[in-house]
Amino acid sequence: MTKVIDPVCGMTVDQEKAAAREVRAGRTWYFCSEQCHRMFVADPARYGAKDAAEAAERAKGGAGGTRGGGI
Ligand SMILES: [Zn+2]
Repeated sequence: MTKVIDPVCGMTVDQEKAAAREVRAGRTWYFCSEQCHRMFVADPARYGAKDAAEAAERAKGGAGGTRGGGI
């Protein structure tokens, strides 16, 4: 059994007993309840899914470095 953190409420969830799950940016998120799942889907960026998506994009493109070089 693997314990993971529900990104919405922050509680520890057993992967095998999670009430809901969502695959995003190559990562699986687990939730203690369908309610938390719905909140996550409504606003994924708020719960860190945006960072995961950006990281995946960066890994895909290969181009890294600092963003916004300026003048
Ligand atoms: Zn929850």
